[in-house]
Amino acid sequence: MNSYDVAVIGSGPGGYVAAIRCAQLGMKTALIEKYSTLGGTCLNVGCIPSKALLSSSHHYEEATKHFEEHGIEVPGEVKVNLEKMIARKQAVVDQTTGGIDFLMKKNNIDVYEGLGSFVDATHIKIEGKDSGEIEAKNIIIATGSKPSNLPFIELDKERIITSTEALKLKEVPKHMIVIGGGVIGLELGQVYYRLGAEVTVVEYMDRILPTMDAGLSKELNKVFKKAKCKMMMSHKVQSVERKGDEVIVKAENKKGELVEFKGDYCLVSVGRRPYTDGLNAEAAGVKINDRGQVEVNEHLQTSTPNIYAIGDVVRGAMLAHKAEEEGVFVAETIAGQKPHIDYNLIPGVVYTWPEVAAVGKTEEELKAENKEYKVGQFPFRALGRARASGDIDGFVKILADKTTDEVLGVHMIGARCADLIAEAVTAMEFRASAEDISRYSHAHPTFAEAVKEAALAATDDRALHV
Ligand code: FAD
Ligand code: NAD
Repeated sequence: MNSYDVAVIGSGPGGYVAAIRCAQLGMKTALIEKYSTLGGTCLNVGCIPSKALLSSSHHYEEATKHFEEHGIEVPGEVKVNLEKMIARKQAVVDQTTGGIDFLMKKNNIDVYEGLGSFVDATHIKIEGKDSGEIEAKNIIIATGSKPSNLPFIELDKERIITSTEALKLKEVPKHMIVIGGGVIGLELGQVYYRLGAEVTVVEYMDRILPTMDAGLSKELNKVFKKAKCKMMMSHKVQSVERKGDEVIVKAENKKGELVEFKGDYCLVSVGRRPYTDGLNAEAAGVKINDRGQVEVNEHLQTSTPNIYAIGDVVRGAMLAHKAEEEGVFVAETIAGQKPHIDYNLIPGVVYTWPEVAAVGKTEEELKAENKEYKVGQFPFRALGRARASGDIDGFVKILADKTTDEVLGVHMIGARCADLIAEAVTAMEFRASAEDISRYSHAHPTFAEAVKEAALAATDDRALHV
């Protein structure tokens, strides 16, 4: 039987990064994945394919709606070839997952294809292409998550679908009803409205992106409304029924009335659930809590000390970069180091256009904590760079401690915010004040100048360009 210092179950961004870091630290490492391609949800049916379709549909929108204002004339009609667009997405996925195969070889990590299940706390049975049993001193559970569903919805995966199917549709829906105005619903809703679908978003809470700062929800809601999407907030879905090629969604509104929506596709995007099916965690004494998450302490150690868990299968944000941080954290912990993760500084990004990005506390959270804070906000439309490219929607908002000026949260919506948020994370990691940000140089003309201006506004209400 092959013996390892560490065996990792699951090859998503949590698992494969943990395996690389373990190998870098000199540990003999195995990685077990039940599918034939590595990379987990993120690379196969999550981050990467969704961003590929967002980029392709953005190009289409630019060509059909914005080229003209830039003086670009396209002779003839610009058309979508969905089959080709989906094939390109798959090529991007294949190239990216292939890159993980290369990284495993480069780091001498043994990869086993098959379902991993615990025999006991140091042995894992593998069922699949590489069937057998391996032994490991330490084990990292990185089994990720699957789409969750509402108990009364039967997902037929043809017309009543999850994100996985929405990434490979064969036609552009005529009317896509999106249940859940969270990250998946908005990113994929935007892909399909750009490609010509009518889109209705049915959300249970009173705003989209309910966990983000309310100012961002409001601004993105405007963008969707401008694109003629129906944004049905405070609607509790009661039933979803398929009749031939039609899908009928019934939801109760705030007044208690039953409202009916008819479409040809329904995307169910109401969150994801931790995935431990078939893992046989009990055999190793690993506790699963009543939310289905593997229970971990502050060292990401499970109830069995040599077994750790990371990523979507444990508490916290279900984000690829959070899973990666935890993968590195556990590898370094096993190696005897003392790593640290500040969960408050894990940024959240929605890759719509304009992009939405945030780090730290929201205004709602600061109010709930009775924290006294100042706000500095700056609109992109006041920037030369934004006007030059025609991306003038959105703003950067900086929240800083009223007394010390320390930055407590940064919330932004606009062009390139997914990348701009890195500056805010860096500043907050070094506990910068708003004045610190306002005093270092930002290249001109850039979108990043909005961060400096928002910092100036927060420092002393002295933004220069508004
Ligand atoms: P996963 O990526 O889910 O990987 C778990 C792996 O474990 C899977 O490959 C699974 O097959 C395998 N596995 C499970 N059980 C076993 C077993 N018993 N034996 C062997 N293998 C097993 N996050 C972002 O940060 N940015 C984004 O832009 C983003 N976009 C997304 C878009 C979509 C449509 C979706 C669905 C998700 C998106 N996410 C995004 C979330 C991100 O994909 C997850 O947070 C991330 O993949 C979690 O990583 P993980 O390693 O914990 O688990
Ligand atoms: P989510 O939690 O972001 O959004 C789910 C939405 O569904 C919420 O707004 C919620 O209020 C709503 N909802 C719940 N029950 C409902 C009901 N009965 N009727 C109507 N609405 C209801 O979940 P998601 O969009 O499915 O995404 C799942 C996970 O994947 C998220 O945790 C997210 O972090 C991750 N993800 C991240 C990215 C990114 O980082 N860009 C992209 C996609 C997915």
